[in-house]
Amino acid sequence: MPNKQKSVRPVYLESFQNGKLDAAIKKLEEMLKACVICPRKCKVNRLKGERGFCKTGCKPKVYSYMAHRGEEPAISGVKGSGTIFFSNCNMGCVYCQNYEFSQMGRGREVEFQDLAGYMLELQSRECHNINLVTPTHVLPQILKSLKIAITLGLNIPLVYNTSGYELPEIIQLLDGIIDIYLPDMRYADEPCAVKFSLAEGYPEYNRQALKEMFRQVGNAQLDENGIMERGIIIRHLVLPNNISGTEKIMQFIAQELSTDTYISLMSQYLPYHRAQEFKEISRRLKLKEYTQAKEIMDKYNLHNGWVQESLASERFAGVNIKSVLKDG
Ligand code: SF4
Repeated sequence: MPNKQKSVRPVYLESFQNGKLDAAIKKLEEMLKACVICPRKCKVNRLKGERGFCKTGCKPKVYSYMAHRGEEPAISGVKGSGTIFFSNCNMGCVYCQNYEFSQMGRGREVEFQDLAGYMLELQSRECHNINLVTPTHVLPQILKSLKIAITLGLNIPLVYNTSGYELPEIIQLLDGIIDIYLPDMRYADEPCAVKFSLAEGYPEYNRQALKEMFRQVGNAQLDENGIMERGIIIRHLVLPNNISGTEKIMQFIAQELSTDTYISLMSQYLPYHRAQEFKEISRRLKLKEYTQAKEIMDKYNLHNGWVQESLASERFAGVNIKSVLKDG
Protein backbone atom coordinates (compact mmCIF):
# COMPACT_ATOMS: atom_id res chain seq x y z
CA MET A 1 0.00 0.00 0.00
CA PRO A 2 1.15 3.63 -0.47
CA ASN A 3 2.89 5.16 2.49
CA LYS A 4 -0.04 6.91 4.23
CA GLN A 5 0.39 9.04 7.29
CA LYS A 6 -1.14 11.92 9.19
CA SER A 7 -0.99 15.46 7.75
CA VAL A 8 2.37 17.23 8.08
CA ARG A 9 3.09 20.97 8.06
CA PRO A 10 4.62 22.39 4.87
CA VAL A 11 8.38 22.59 5.39
CA TYR A 12 8.62 26.23 4.32
CA LEU A 13 6.86 27.40 7.51
CA GLU A 14 9.85 26.37 9.60
CA SER A 15 12.31 27.92 7.12
CA PHE A 16 10.32 31.15 7.22
CA GLN A 17 10.69 31.25 11.00
CA ASN A 18 14.35 30.27 11.24
CA GLY A 19 15.59 32.60 8.50
CA LYS A 20 16.45 29.91 5.94
CA LEU A 21 13.91 31.26 3.46
CA ASP A 22 15.34 34.78 3.73
CA ALA A 23 18.86 33.43 3.22
CA ALA A 24 17.82 31.56 0.06
CA ILE A 25 16.06 34.65 -1.32
CA LYS A 26 19.15 36.77 -0.69
CA LYS A 27 21.49 34.33 -2.45
CA LEU A 28 19.21 33.83 -5.41
CA GLU A 29 18.54 37.55 -5.87
CA GLU A 30 22.27 38.19 -5.88
CA MET A 31 22.62 35.65 -8.68
CA LEU A 32 20.25 37.65 -10.87
CA LYS A 33 22.95 40.31 -11.29
CA ALA A 34 24.85 37.91 -13.56
CA CYS A 35 22.30 35.16 -13.90
CA VAL A 36 23.51 31.68 -13.02
CA ILE A 37 20.17 30.33 -11.83
CA CYS A 38 20.19 27.42 -14.27
CA PRO A 39 22.75 25.39 -16.24
CA ARG A 40 22.75 27.91 -19.10
CA LYS A 41 24.56 30.47 -16.92
CA CYS A 42 23.75 33.34 -19.27
CA LYS A 43 25.35 35.86 -16.86
CA VAL A 44 23.03 38.67 -17.89
CA ASN A 45 22.00 41.31 -15.36
CA ARG A 46 18.32 40.58 -14.98
CA LEU A 47 17.93 43.20 -12.26
CA LYS A 48 18.73 45.77 -14.94
CA GLY A 49 16.28 44.20 -17.37
CA GLU A 50 18.77 42.21 -19.44
CA ARG A 51 17.41 38.91 -20.76
CA GLY A 52 19.11 35.59 -21.30
CA PHE A 53 17.86 32.39 -22.93
CA CYS A 54 14.67 32.40 -20.82
CA LYS A 55 13.80 35.96 -21.94
CA THR A 56 12.70 36.81 -18.41
CA GLY A 57 13.69 39.93 -16.49
CA CYS A 58 13.35 40.69 -12.78
CA LYS A 59 9.57 40.27 -12.47
CA PRO A 60 7.74 36.95 -12.62
CA LYS A 61 5.68 36.42 -15.75
CA VAL A 62 2.54 34.30 -15.37
CA TYR A 63 0.42 32.74 -18.11
CA SER A 64 -2.39 31.39 -15.96
CA TYR A 65 -3.35 29.89 -12.63
CA MET A 66 -6.06 27.38 -11.92
CA ALA A 67 -7.28 24.42 -9.89
CA HIS A 68 -5.84 21.65 -12.08
CA ARG A 69 -7.58 18.30 -12.01
CA GLY A 70 -5.43 16.63 -14.64
CA GLU A 71 -2.21 16.07 -12.72
CA GLU A 72 -1.29 12.76 -11.09
CA PRO A 73 -4.08 11.61 -8.73
CA ALA A 74 -1.92 12.18 -5.63
CA ILE A 75 -1.29 15.78 -6.74
CA SER A 76 -4.73 16.75 -8.11
CA GLY A 77 -6.78 14.83 -5.55
CA VAL A 78 -10.46 15.71 -5.67
CA LYS A 79 -10.26 19.49 -5.34
CA GLY A 80 -7.45 20.10 -7.78
CA SER A 81 -3.85 21.19 -7.66
CA GLY A 82 -3.35 24.96 -7.32
CA THR A 83 -1.33 25.31 -10.49
CA ILE A 84 0.54 28.42 -11.58
CA PHE A 85 1.91 28.32 -15.14
CA PHE A 86 4.91 30.60 -15.61
CA SER A 87 5.68 32.11 -19.00
CA ASN A 88 9.01 31.33 -20.70
CA CYS A 89 11.34 28.43 -19.95
CA ASN A 90 14.99 27.51 -19.67
CA MET A 91 14.49 24.59 -22.08
CA GLY A 92 13.86 24.89 -25.81
CA CYS A 93 11.91 21.73 -26.64
CA VAL A 94 11.00 21.59 -30.32
CA TYR A 95 7.89 19.53 -29.46
CA CYS A 96 6.61 21.63 -26.53
CA GLN A 97 2.84 21.47 -26.20
CA ASN A 98 2.86 24.71 -24.19
CA TYR A 99 5.03 26.59 -26.66
CA GLU A 100 2.70 29.60 -26.85
CA PHE A 101 3.62 30.65 -23.34
CA SER A 102 6.80 28.65 -22.69
CA GLN A 103 8.60 29.75 -25.82
CA MET A 104 6.59 32.58 -27.36
CA GLY A 105 6.22 34.28 -24.00
CA ARG A 106 2.45 34.74 -23.77
CA GLY A 107 1.47 35.90 -20.29
CA ARG A 108 1.80 38.96 -18.09
CA GLU A 109 4.54 40.31 -15.86
CA VAL A 110 3.15 40.60 -12.36
CA GLU A 111 4.22 42.05 -9.02
CA PHE A 112 5.40 39.79 -6.18
CA GLN A 113 2.28 40.75 -4.26
CA ASP A 114 0.11 39.57 -7.17
CA LEU A 115 1.85 36.21 -7.32
CA ALA A 116 1.40 35.81 -3.57
CA GLY A 117 -2.27 36.65 -4.08
CA TYR A 118 -2.66 33.85 -6.67
CA MET A 119 -1.20 31.38 -4.17
CA LEU A 120 -3.63 32.49 -1.50
CA GLU A 121 -6.58 32.45 -3.88
CA LEU A 122 -5.77 28.87 -4.90
CA GLN A 123 -5.57 27.92 -1.23
CA SER A 124 -8.93 29.57 -0.57
CA ARG A 125 -10.38 27.45 -3.40
CA GLU A 126 -9.30 24.45 -1.29
CA CYS A 127 -6.62 23.25 -3.70
CA HIS A 128 -4.41 20.57 -2.18
CA ASN A 129 -1.14 22.33 -2.97
CA ILE A 130 0.56 25.16 -4.87
CA ASN A 131 1.97 23.66 -8.07
CA LEU A 132 4.69 25.82 -9.64
CA VAL A 133 4.97 24.85 -13.31
CA THR A 134 8.30 25.69 -14.97
CA PRO A 135 9.63 27.56 -11.93
CA THR A 136 13.40 27.34 -12.52
CA HIS A 137 14.02 30.67 -14.24
CA VAL A 138 11.80 32.61 -11.80
CA LEU A 139 12.89 30.96 -8.59
CA PRO A 140 14.02 34.11 -6.72
CA GLN A 141 10.77 35.84 -7.66
CA ILE A 142 8.71 32.85 -6.51
CA LEU A 143 10.42 32.74 -3.12
CA LYS A 144 9.89 36.47 -2.59
CA SER A 145 6.20 35.99 -3.32
CA LEU A 146 6.08 32.89 -1.14
CA LYS A 147 7.34 34.92 1.79
CA ILE A 148 4.52 37.44 1.35
CA ALA A 149 1.99 34.61 1.03
CA ILE A 150 3.24 32.94 4.22
CA THR A 151 2.77 36.14 6.19
CA LEU A 152 -0.82 36.19 4.91
CA GLY A 153 -1.54 32.58 5.88
CA LEU A 154 -0.35 30.22 3.15
CA ASN A 155 -0.05 26.73 4.62
CA ILE A 156 -0.46 24.11 1.88
CA PRO A 157 2.41 22.07 0.33
CA LEU A 158 4.59 23.59 -2.37
CA VAL A 159 5.18 21.54 -5.54
CA TYR A 160 8.24 22.22 -7.68
CA ASN A 161 7.14 21.03 -11.14
CA THR A 162 10.20 21.22 -13.38
CA SER A 163 11.55 19.99 -16.71
CA GLY A 164 14.59 18.97 -14.70
CA TYR A 165 17.25 21.15 -16.32
CA GLU A 166 18.54 22.29 -12.96
CA LEU A 167 21.77 23.09 -11.17
CA PRO A 168 22.12 20.82 -8.12
CA GLU A 169 23.59 23.70 -6.09
CA ILE A 170 20.43 25.73 -6.70
CA ILE A 171 18.26 22.79 -5.66
CA GLN A 172 20.32 22.63 -2.45
CA LEU A 173 19.04 26.10 -1.58
CA LEU A 174 15.49 24.74 -1.67
CA ASP A 175 16.11 22.26 1.13
CA GLY A 176 13.42 22.97 3.73
CA ILE A 177 11.36 25.09 1.31
CA ILE A 178 9.91 22.63 -1.22
CA ASP A 179 7.61 19.87 -0.01
CA ILE A 180 7.10 17.96 -3.24
CA TYR A 181 9.39 17.67 -6.24
CA LEU A 182 7.78 16.79 -9.56
CA PRO A 183 10.71 16.72 -12.00
CA ASP A 184 10.94 15.33 -15.51
CA MET A 185 13.65 12.92 -16.52
CA ARG A 186 13.46 13.78 -20.20
CA TYR A 187 16.63 12.39 -21.77
CA ALA A 188 19.37 9.92 -20.91
CA ASP A 189 21.60 10.90 -23.82
CA GLU A 190 23.29 14.22 -24.47
CA PRO A 191 22.85 14.36 -28.29
CA CYS A 192 19.07 13.99 -27.94
CA ALA A 193 18.90 16.66 -25.22
CA VAL A 194 20.78 19.09 -27.44
CA LYS A 195 18.92 18.29 -30.64
CA PHE A 196 15.39 18.33 -29.28
CA SER A 197 15.60 20.70 -26.29
CA LEU A 198 18.76 22.77 -26.85
CA ALA A 199 19.78 21.59 -23.39
CA GLU A 200 23.51 20.96 -23.18
CA GLY A 201 24.52 18.73 -20.30
CA TYR A 202 20.90 17.84 -19.51
CA PRO A 203 21.43 14.17 -18.56
CA GLU A 204 24.14 14.88 -16.00
CA TYR A 205 22.58 18.03 -14.51
CA ASN A 206 19.26 16.22 -14.36
CA ARG A 207 20.66 13.19 -12.54
CA GLN A 208 22.61 15.25 -10.00
CA ALA A 209 19.65 17.55 -9.34
CA LEU A 210 17.32 14.59 -8.83
CA LYS A 211 19.72 12.99 -6.37
CA GLU A 212 19.61 16.19 -4.35
CA MET A 213 15.81 16.39 -4.54
CA PHE A 214 15.54 12.80 -3.37
CA ARG A 215 17.99 13.44 -0.55
CA GLN A 216 15.77 16.28 0.68
CA VAL A 217 12.30 14.78 0.48
CA GLY A 218 12.66 11.02 -0.12
CA ASN A 219 9.89 8.77 -1.30
CA ALA A 220 6.29 9.90 -1.56
CA GLN A 221 4.33 10.36 1.65
CA LEU A 222 0.57 10.39 1.21
CA ASP A 223 -2.08 11.50 3.70
CA GLU A 224 -5.03 9.39 4.76
CA ASN A 225 -6.88 10.41 1.56
CA GLY A 226 -4.05 9.48 -0.77
CA ILE A 227 -2.95 13.10 -1.34
CA MET A 228 0.77 13.68 -1.48
CA GLU A 229 2.32 15.81 1.25
CA ARG A 230 6.02 15.23 0.81
CA GLY A 231 8.40 13.44 -1.53
CA ILE A 232 9.24 13.08 -5.20
CA ILE A 233 7.35 11.91 -8.27
CA ILE A 234 9.45 11.52 -11.41
CA ARG A 235 7.79 12.11 -14.76
CA HIS A 236 9.09 10.33 -17.82
CA LEU A 237 7.60 11.26 -21.19
CA VAL A 238 8.16 8.37 -23.57
CA LEU A 239 9.22 9.80 -26.95
CA PRO A 240 9.10 7.95 -30.30
CA ASN A 241 12.12 5.93 -31.41
CA ASN A 242 13.45 5.72 -27.82
CA ILE A 243 14.67 9.32 -27.97
CA SER A 244 14.12 9.60 -24.21
CA GLY A 245 16.41 6.66 -23.32
CA THR A 246 13.93 4.94 -21.00
CA GLU A 247 16.15 2.02 -20.02
CA LYS A 248 19.03 4.18 -18.77
CA ILE A 249 16.63 6.41 -16.87
CA MET A 250 14.85 3.56 -15.11
CA GLN A 251 18.18 1.96 -14.28
CA PHE A 252 19.35 5.23 -12.71
CA ILE A 253 16.19 5.58 -10.63
CA ALA A 254 16.36 2.00 -9.39
CA GLN A 255 20.06 2.03 -8.62
CA GLU A 256 20.74 5.62 -7.51
CA LEU A 257 17.42 6.61 -5.90
CA SER A 258 15.00 3.88 -4.86
CA THR A 259 12.87 1.15 -6.39
CA ASP A 260 10.04 2.64 -4.29
CA THR A 261 10.20 5.92 -6.26
CA TYR A 262 6.85 7.01 -7.67
CA ILE A 263 7.08 7.29 -11.45
CA SER A 264 4.58 8.85 -13.79
CA LEU A 265 5.12 7.15 -17.16
CA MET A 266 3.57 9.44 -19.75
CA SER A 267 2.27 8.30 -23.11
CA GLN A 268 0.66 11.48 -24.41
CA TYR A 269 3.41 12.63 -26.75
CA LEU A 270 2.10 14.40 -29.86
CA PRO A 271 4.24 16.23 -32.42
CA TYR A 272 3.41 19.82 -31.40
CA HIS A 273 5.22 23.02 -32.28
CA ARG A 274 8.23 22.30 -34.58
CA ALA A 275 8.31 18.51 -34.13
CA GLN A 276 7.32 17.91 -37.76
CA GLU A 277 10.72 19.26 -38.78
CA PHE A 278 12.38 16.28 -37.08
CA LYS A 279 11.72 12.90 -38.66
CA GLU A 280 12.41 10.89 -35.48
CA ILE A 281 9.70 12.63 -33.47
CA SER A 282 7.28 13.68 -36.22
CA ARG A 283 4.67 11.08 -35.24
CA ARG A 284 2.82 10.13 -32.11
CA LEU A 285 4.01 7.31 -29.88
CA LYS A 286 3.17 3.73 -30.82
CA LEU A 287 1.45 1.49 -28.28
CA LYS A 288 4.31 -0.99 -28.67
CA GLU A 289 6.84 1.67 -27.62
CA TYR A 290 4.84 2.57 -24.53
CA THR A 291 4.40 -1.10 -23.63
CA GLN A 292 8.16 -1.59 -23.87
CA ALA A 293 8.68 1.34 -21.49
CA LYS A 294 6.29 -0.27 -18.97
CA GLU A 295 8.21 -3.54 -19.27
CA ILE A 296 11.45 -1.69 -18.51
CA MET A 297 9.87 -0.29 -15.32
CA ASP A 298 8.99 -3.86 -14.33
CA LYS A 299 12.47 -5.10 -15.21
CA TYR A 300 13.97 -2.70 -12.65
CA ASN A 301 11.27 -3.49 -10.09
CA LEU A 302 9.95 0.09 -10.15
CA HIS A 303 6.56 -0.68 -8.72
CA ASN A 304 5.10 2.67 -7.60
CA GLY A 305 3.43 5.33 -9.68
CA TRP A 306 1.08 5.67 -12.59
CA VAL A 307 1.05 4.05 -15.98
CA GLN A 308 -1.62 4.37 -18.62
CA GLU A 309 -3.41 1.45 -20.15
CA SER A 310 -3.73 3.02 -23.59
CA LEU A 311 -2.09 5.84 -25.46
CA ALA A 312 -3.56 9.13 -24.31
CA SER A 313 -3.57 12.61 -25.77
CA GLU A 314 -3.96 14.33 -22.43
CA ARG A 315 -2.28 13.69 -19.13
CA PHE A 316 -4.70 11.92 -16.77
CA ALA A 317 -7.53 14.14 -17.93
CA GLY A 318 -9.60 12.17 -20.42
CA VAL A 319 -12.09 9.39 -20.03
CA ASN A 320 -9.87 7.25 -22.27
CA ILE A 321 -7.14 7.31 -19.66
CA LYS A 322 -6.91 4.79 -16.94
CA SER A 323 -4.38 5.70 -14.30
CA VAL A 324 -3.26 2.79 -12.24
CA LEU A 325 -1.76 3.30 -8.85
CA LYS A 326 0.83 0.56 -8.65
CA ASP A 327 1.57 0.12 -5.03
CA GLY A 328 3.75 -2.95 -4.87
S1 SF4 B 1 17.52 31.50 -15.62
FE1 SF4 B 1 17.39 32.39 -17.69
S2 SF4 B 1 18.90 34.02 -17.77
FE2 SF4 B 1 19.37 32.78 -15.96
S3 SF4 B 1 20.89 31.32 -16.62
FE3 SF4 B 1 18.91 30.31 -16.89
S4 SF4 B 1 18.21 30.76 -18.99
FE4 SF4 B 1 19.91 32.17 -18.49
